[in-house]
Amino acid sequence: MASSISSDLSSSRFPRVAVIGAGLAGLTLARILTEMGLSVRVFDKGRSPAGRMSTRHEAGGSFDHGAQYFTARDEGFQRQVETWVEQGVAAEWRARFGTLENGTLTPRNEGPVRYVGVPGMSALAQSFASRVDVRCGVRVEHVRREHEAWVLTSDTGQALGAFHAVVAAVPAPQAVPLLAGSPELSARVAGVRMEPCWSVMASFDAPVPLPVDGAFIHGSPLSWAARDNSKPGRPEGERWVLHATPEFSREHLEDTPEAVAPLLVEAFRRAAGVDVRPGRAVAHRWRYAQAEPSLTEGALFDDKRGLGACGDWCSGSRVEGAYLSGMALSRRIVFWRP
Ligand SMILES: Cc1cc2nc3c(=O)[nH]c(=O)nc-3n(C[C@H](O)[C@H](O)[C@H](O)COP(=O)(O)OP(=O)(O)OC[C@H]3O[C@@H](n4cnc5c(N)ncnc54)[C@H](O)[C@@H]3O)c2cc1C
Repeated sequence: MASSISSDLSSSRFPRVAVIGAGLAGLTLARILTEMGLSVRVFDKGRSPAGRMSTRHEAGGSFDHGAQYFTARDEGFQRQVETWVEQGVAAEWRARFGTLENGTLTPRNEGPVRYVGVPGMSALAQSFASRVDVRCGVRVEHVRREHEAWVLTSDTGQALGAFHAVVAAVPAPQAVPLLAGSPELSARVAGVRMEPCWSVMASFDAPVPLPVDGAFIHGSPLSWAARDNSKPGRPEGERWVLHATPEFSREHLEDTPEAVAPLLVEAFRRAAGVDVRPGRAVAHRWRYAQAEPSLTEGALFDDKRGLGACGDWCSGSRVEGAYLSGMALSRRIVFWRP
C-alpha cells in the first residue's frame, strides 16, 4: 500500500489536490487549479454541487432556499459576474424591495445592484462544476497522513485516494475535524462561530397581495421574505422563501421541519399584515448559514503540511466572499510544491 501511494503521487508532475466541498469557494479554487494544470478532485456530500447556493425542487416548484441574491464590490468579482451575465447564468434582480414591520411596509429601493443565478442560484456553481472533476454524494470523513501523502476516506469507509494537498472548502465547524493534521490551522478554524437559519419554501395558489418582492423584516421571528418567482428566468407560480432570524433558528435548532414551517408562515402573515395561507410550506434547516463574524485572512494554508481551508467564513460571509476566498487560496497553491 505504501509503495502504491508513493508511486501514484510521484508519477504526477504537479501537486495532486483534493478539495472537500463543491460550494462556490471550493469550485472557484478547483477551476483555477485545474486550468493551471494541477490534478484536482472535488468531493461533495450533496446530491449536486452548489452548497448554500442550492436551488431546491419541491412539488410547488423551485426555490432558492439558501443564498437569495448577491452583490459585487470587488473588481475581479465584478468581471466574473459580467461573464456569468454574458453566459446567461446570472442576471440582475430588478425587484421591489422594502422593510416590513408588524404589517407596515416601507419601500427601500436604494442600494447596490442585486444579482441572482438563472434559472436558479445553483446555476453559478454548476457553471464552474462542469469544468472540474467533481464527485457528489461522497462525505469525506477522514484525512490521514500516510507515507508523505494525505489519504482520504469517506463515511462509508470508501478509499478516496492519495493527495499532496487537501483543502476543506466547507463551513468552519465542519472543517475542524478534516484539518486535524494541522493543529494550528484547526485551532484557528475552531474559533469561527456560524449561525443557523431555518428557511421555509411556501407555494401559494394566488399572488400574495404585497407590493414588494424582497423584504427585510424587523420585530419578527423572520428576517427576510422573498417572492422567488419575481427573479428572472423562474417558472410560473407564486412561491416565497422565508428566512428566520439567528435567534429563532438557534432556539428551534433541533425542532422538526414540520413543527417549524407553520410557525414561520404565521410570522409572515403578521409581518406582512396579509391574510394568506400557502398551499404547501416546507422548512429546511441550514445548521451553518453564516459566520458571525467571519475571518479576514481570505483563506488559510499550512504550506509545510499541504492542508488548507477556504469559504465565505474566511472572507465576509457572502457569495462574493466565497468566490474571493477560493481565488485567494488558488494564488497560494498554484505555485506550491510539496
Ligand atoms: C439561508 C442563507 C441565506 C443566505 N443569503 C445570502 C445572500 O442573500 N447573499 C449572499 O451573498 N450570501 C448569502 N448566504 C451565504 C452564501 O450562501 C454563502 O456565502 C456561500 O454560498 C458559501 O459558499 P462556500 O463555498 O463557502 O460554502 P458552501 O456553499 O456551504 O459549500 C460547502 C460544501 O461542502 C459540502 N460538505 C460539507 N462537509 C463535507 C464533507 N465532510 N464531505 C464532503 N462535502 C462536504 C457541502 O455539501 C457544501 O456543498 C446565505 C446563506 C444561507 C444559508
